Amino acid sequence: MTHEDTAKASGWDLHCHTVFSDGTVTPRGMVEQAQQLGLEGLAITDHDTNAGWDQARQAAKDLGMPLLPGTEITAQDGRVSVHMLAYLYDSEDPVIAGLFAKTRDARLTRTRTMVERISRDYPITWQEVLDQVKEGSKTTVGRPHIADALVKAGVYSDRSQAFAGVCSSSSPYYLPTPSPTTHQVLAAVNHAGGVLVIAHPGAVSRNPVLLSDQQIAALAKEGLGGLEVWHRDNPPEQRRRLLALAQRWGLLVTGGSDWHGQGKPNRMGENCTSDQVVAQIVDRARGSCPVAWKG
Ligand code: AMP
Ligand code: FE
Ligand code: FE
Ligand code: ZN
Repeated sequence: MTHEDTAKASGWDLHCHTVFSDGTVTPRGMVEQAQQLGLEGLAITDHDTNAGWDQARQAAKDLGMPLLPGTEITAQDGRVSVHMLAYLYDSEDPVIAGLFAKTRDARLTRTRTMVERISRDYPITWQEVLDQVKEGSKTTVGRPHIADALVKAGVYSDRSQAFAGVCSSSSPYYLPTPSPTTHQVLAAVNHAGGVLVIAHPGAVSRNPVLLSDQQIAALAKEGLGGLEVWHRDNPPEQRRRLLALAQRWGLLVTGGSDWHGQGKPNRMGENCTSDQVVAQIVDRARGSCPVAWKG
């Protein structure tokens, strides 16, 4: 870690993945790194699960590091695949629990089918993909674990190379993840007292089609909390568009690194959210979540 890396970090990193989805570091390791970087606080946001919350909370408490519990939820809005960051919702809520169970089950079947297809042409087995999964059935399984198995088999040199090849969404092996709609996710998170933010809504490199102004407006009217504007995948013209939409619809503006440990080049703290915005998120959450731990 260079001095430049640490010098840039300020505020809260509200988008971080651990071994409970496709990150490579434990929740404790994540909290330790945030503290070393001098961040004000951070959020744990694994894909479609809250299985890492207990470990993250315990580490946050031990180290005196403020933490928001969260989840990055996979959703669909018409033709657009959307990621949504849900913060401070009640993890005991049966609607949310049902939603995650269904998505994670569908992900497992979809990933397995992709591996069956890939294994006709490349030297990997389903067992070798499962060997890359760090927390067993608690981990949300997906393409990154296929990518890691391909790296292990010597087909690619790292995960990003695999994502540029066999794991790409334009590869013949690709299958989409069956997901709930953005409106279903929003209703569930609102019901569970949480705050919902659209992750990287301007990520042109990731999505052939982005959410339109109308689609974002419709969600805003149903109680959307904010837009993750400060994210490396949102190019400058998208950031301008998103800031204007946030202003128009009274949405919070957040930032996060989308840190995955060694799984992606994104550096923790490279994009952050201010203390004031985090305070508004905490304010808007209805407190049914065993609250953000703040030292
Ligand atoms: P899936 O949800 O199974 O379709 O896999 C998509 C996940 O892979 C996303 O959550 C990303 O974080 C991760 N991902 C996408 N592109 C890359 C990449 N180039 N390198 C590493 N991970 C990636
Ligand atoms: Fe990810
Ligand atoms: Fe995402
Ligand atoms: Zn993410």
